[in-house]
Amino acid sequence: DAGDVDTIWLDGEFVDWDDAQIHVLTHGLHYGTGIFEGVRCYDTEEGPAIFRWEEHLDRFYASGKPYNLDIPFDREELTAATKELIRRQGLESCYIRPIAYYGYDMLGLSPESCPEQVAIAVWPWGAYLGEDALEEGVEVTVSSWQKYASSQIPTNAKTTGPYVNSVLASLEAKREGYVEALLLNQEGNVAEGPGENLFLVRDGEIYTPGLAEGILDGITRNTVITLAREQGYTVHDDATISRGELNTADELFFSGTAAEVTPIRKVDNVVIGEGTRGPVTTDVQQAFFDLVERRTDDHADWFEYVEI
Ligand code: PMP
Repeated sequence: DAGDVDTIWLDGEFVDWDDAQIHVLTHGLHYGTGIFEGVRCYDTEEGPAIFRWEEHLDRFYASGKPYNLDIPFDREELTAATKELIRRQGLESCYIRPIAYYGYDMLGLSPESCPEQVAIAVWPWGAYLGEDALEEGVEVTVSSWQKYASSQIPTNAKTTGPYVNSVLASLEAKREGYVEALLLNQEGNVAEGPGENLFLVRDGEIYTPGLAEGILDGITRNTVITLAREQGYTVHDDATISRGELNTADELFFSGTAAEVTPIRKVDNVVIGEGTRGPVTTDVQQAFFDLVERRTDDHADWFEYVEI
């Protein structure tokens, strides 16, 4: 459901939502040769503010590298288009979805003759795992699907096709009555959620799997690491976390653009800590929302304001 939004930016033009169509022989549809981003814009006293837009753009362009996908618009063009979408539709806060993909020319696997196409959509999107989840935490299951290794598919690129891995894990979790999944990597250690990074708290210190564990280099992950260190916490950002350590953690939480900072209260029905949002998670989550809703002046360079 798109709410009130009625415009999408497609290859340089603003088009009506219903007219944002592509050809059925689009390369990206058949082989998943697309890259995308998920970004949030927050409602602040100084108007809508896009959080860490520059870092999302960095990752967007970088994601195209392994696929020779050169996004045919520059940063200024993508920024102007996104701001205009937010402005035109009168949104105060929203989710932003830029996508670039190989379009329609021929269906050989190598896409060199296919056009590089780009679209941006924005729409209102509340708490991804539910409003209650932010306070009470979610129940997750360790998926029977493992996260693919970076030797199989680049894990530092946000590529559309490989998200079937996340879709399988999410579907399985929901079928079993859980809100979200947790994936182990090829070594059997903890990687991440289908669309979230994972943090663990033990004896007052914070741990999160390192990039070599086959995770996406999450921008919220980086934000959490930065804020937690500013709060005086010791953060181990290159941890290897074994499955068993999940059960004995004092606290666990997810980070992600969509999920923001969401506590995990049970893993496969094993209660984590007190079974609710723990004190360290509370601290970090508070710092996160104070930041993105601009109740502090810190990190001003992380915000791109949309002039109304
Ligand atoms: N891991 C995966 C697999 C994801 O899809 C996401 C969402 N982009 C994340 C982690 C969190 O990344 P970010 O904080 O940049 O949204």
